[in-house]
Formats: sequence, structure tokens, C-alpha cells
Amino acid sequence: MKRPTILVLGAGYGGLATVVNLQKNIGTDVADITLINQNNYHYESTWLHEASAGTLRPDQVRYEIADVIKADKVKFVKASVEGIDIASKKVTTDNGEFTYDYLVIGLGFEGETFGIPGLDKYALSIANVKAARQIREHIEYQFATWSMDEVKDDSRLTIVVGGAGFTGIEFLGELGNRVPELCKEFDVPKDKVSIICVEASPMVLPGFDPELVEYAVGHLQAKGIEFSVGTPVVEATPEGVKIKKGEDEFEFIKAGTVVWAAGVRGNRLIEQSGIENMRARVKVDKDMRAPGHNDVFIVGDCALMINEEINRPYPPTAQIAMQQGVTVAKNIISLINGSATEEFVPDLKGSVCSLGEHDAIGVVFGKKITGTKASFMKKVIDNRSLYMIGGPSLVVKKGKFNLL
Ligand code: FAD
Ligand code: NAD
Repeated sequence: MKRPTILVLGAGYGGLATVVNLQKNIGTDVADITLINQNNYHYESTWLHEASAGTLRPDQVRYEIADVIKADKVKFVKASVEGIDIASKKVTTDNGEFTYDYLVIGLGFEGETFGIPGLDKYALSIANVKAARQIREHIEYQFATWSMDEVKDDSRLTIVVGGAGFTGIEFLGELGNRVPELCKEFDVPKDKVSIICVEASPMVLPGFDPELVEYAVGHLQAKGIEFSVGTPVVEATPEGVKIKKGEDEFEFIKAGTVVWAAGVRGNRLIEQSGIENMRARVKVDKDMRAPGHNDVFIVGDCALMINEEINRPYPPTAQIAMQQGVTVAKNIISLINGSATEEFVPDLKGSVCSLGEHDAIGVVFGKKITGTKASFMKKVIDNRSLYMIGGPSLVVKKGKFNLL
């Protein structure tokens, strides 16, 4: 009998967790496993706010895929997926066409702009390692140019962050530490720099514990960050953003840098694949398969699952993506063996939001934590995610050891 082909798209948390669990639990003669990713490296999306602000170098947030896969069990192909056709079971890439018996789609998230005019063109998004490098260099360019210009335009030194969700707040935490360094490096007086966070909801980190939110806002304000809440961004232009302050009241914020961090959607390739989706996310069956497609699994941010306790989707997180990868690997092996698949049940341990290298807020195992204790926990979580994919050697190579 022909060995089945397992094709995994994307080497993010979900895709890699699937592959490393397949290679651990499957014999070389049982299936052909191919992993396709557009880069020959994986990046830690959960560290991209640091690379974007410039508090970590881009090479610190990524590692070679070859370091975590076993070449005798998994074939890695560096290719950009261009199309997924479920009807003909074909995946097209810039490096050839692939067929499959089992497909795992783990192509991750894209920034959501909600169709707001100008954002696609004029705002930067913390979307991947290349985009993070662009944000870092754009901010440095603005500081360097301000310093050189004879007639100075102070709006070059205004940074607007759209969205005060976890991504926006973590990026602001890094900026709060980075801006004093930039001022020194580029001879810029600190009082010329403005960092403004614009949030549509009436509160920062909507839905999160109010006491922890107060702590975060206080600590970020102490670093000079301003908040404008209940004021959605309604347009972006080359000069900045327009925000809505009341029924017919608008304000324009002139800014040299606009970073859009106001939510995510799934990968756009899902929308052309023939699989039913909402904002490029697939409401998966309990065993992580796409409804009506028994040979297609979805992992990570492209998957949508409802938390039945609160009747709302689970948030798209790396924590869940990695757990899903474990279940998807098990379920593919079960299908090959002709046994029943199992349900995916998330094991939520809590969440920690960093506020810069030595500060954070979080709720872990139901307990609230702040400050260095929370920041220590965040680094433990970061190291744990490396361990889950690449074991102790990856932690030694890429881990965070400045724990306090
Ligand atoms: P991704 O990690 O997005 O990986 C997708 C992969 O697919 C990438 O390797 C990409 O290169 C590849 N790919 C994409 N398109 C193509 C293509 N066309 N062809 C080939 N390859 C392609 N979650 C937490 O749980 N904890 C946190 O602390 C946390 N912090 C975060 C901080 C930031 C700044 C951000 C932006 C997100 C954070 N998240 C966090 C959310 C988390 O990063 C995502 O939920 C997670 O990355 C989703 O994993 P994934 O495997 O679905 O996709
Ligand atoms: P999000 O959806 O959690 O937050 C987006 C924020 O943008 C919301 O507060 C929303 O009200 C605001 N917003 C929406 N439209 C706006 C507009 N027009 N103008 C101004 N503000 C607007 O998105 P995110 O922060 O990018 O996070 C994405 C996912 O990644 C979430 O699931 C999050 O939990 C996860 N994440 C987790 C961590 C962590 O655990 N430390 C860190 C970052 C991200």
C-alpha cells in the first residue's frame, strides 16, 4: 500500500508543534511528511514586539527550522504557498506543486485593518520578522532625519500605536525602554518625542482584569506614553491618523510612525481555498478538522474554536496553537491506523502581558501577578515554548536567561 503523504503548511507554533510530534511518534516507513514554509527559519511571533521596538535583534527572535526537524523523517521545502485547492487536493507554491493525503494548514495571522482607509498603505504592522525589522528601521530613520534636518518637523518623532490589546501594550512597553536609548543615540531631546496609543474601546486591554490594567497604564504613562481611549482610528494618511472623538468630532494626529496593532485575522490564502471561513479563520470541528473535509486539519490562528463556557472564540494565541499541534499530530496518526480521532481541549494556564524587559502583568493559574515576578514568569513561558518545539538544546541556544 502507498504510504500516505502528510503536508504541513507553515512553520509557526502550530505547524512546528504538529511536525515535531509527528516525527516523534511515527516510523520512517509509515508516512511521507513534508513541511513547507516561506523562510528556512521559524520566528517567535510572541517576541516580535521586541524586535519591532529594537530591544531585541531580529536574529535573536528566529532559529533555523533544520535545528528542530529530523531530516530522515521530515522533508523541509522552502517555498511560499500561493494557492490551496481543496477540491483537487493541490497546493501551489513558488517552488512547485504538492499533493497530499492529509493537509495541515498553519499559515498564521495577518493584521486586521477592518477596511479602514489608508491603513494598508500607511501603517506598519507587527506581522512577521521582516515587518518587525522595517518598524525598527523606520523609527530609527525618523530620529536620524529629525536630527539632521535644519528645519525640524517634530511630528517625525511622534509614534502612534493603534490598538491597546496585548500586542499594542507589549510594543508600548518596549518603546518606553527603547526611546531614551534612541534619544541618546540620535541626539534628540526626550521632550520632543510623543508616543500615543489610540484605542477604540473605552478601556485599555478591554476585558482584562481592571486592577492589572490600571497598573499597566500607570507604568506606561510614567514612561511618557499617552493614551487616547474610546477614540477609534478611522483613517490613515501619509501624515498620520484621523481619530473619532465624538458623534461628529474628529482629530488628526500628525505622526511620522503609525504602528497598527488592532487585531488579527487568519491567512488570506484560506479565503481562496474553498473552505468555509470567517475573516480567514476556519471554525474547526472538535478534532481540529475543517468541516466537511476529513483530510484537512487547521492549526493556530487560522483555526477558530468556540469556548462554550462563555460562547466566544478562544483568543488566537501561541499557547493554544502549540497544544493544537500535539492533538493534530495524534489525530493524523490515529487516522492512518484506522482508529478514532480525539477532541482538542485547550489547557489554559493564564496570560502574561509584558511591559518591557523587567515589568509585566498577568493572571497565571488564577493568580494576579505584576512587576518583576510577572516578567520572570513571561520569560519562563518564552523558554517553555522553545522547549516544547526544540527541547533543552533550543532553550540553551535561544532562551532568555536575564530572568530578573
Ligand atoms: P505563526 O506563528 O503566525 O506562523 C505562521 C507561519 O507560516 C510563519 O512561519 C510564516 O512565515 C508562515 N507562512 C505564512 N504565510 C506563508 C505562505 N504563504 N507560504 C509559506 N509560509 C507561510 N500568544 C501567546 O500565547 N503568548 C504571547 O505572549 C503572545 N505574544 C504575542 C506578541 C506579539 C507581538 C504578537 C503579534 C502575537 C503574540 N501572541 C502571543 C499570539 C501568537 O503569536 C499567535 O497566536 C501565534 O503566532 C499563532 O501561531 P501560528 O502557528 O498559527 O502562526
Ligand atoms: P486584540 O484583538 O486582542 O486587540 C486589538 C485592540 O485594538 C482591541 O483593544 C480593539 O478594541 C482595538 N481596536 C480595534 N479597532 C480599532 C480602531 N479602529 N482604532 C483603535 N483601536 C482599535 O489584538 P492583538 O493585541 O493584536 O492580539 C492578537 C492576539 O494575540 C490575541 O489573541 C492576544 O491575546 C494574543 N497576544 C497575546 C499576548 C500575550 O499573551 N502576552 C501578546 C500579544 C498578543
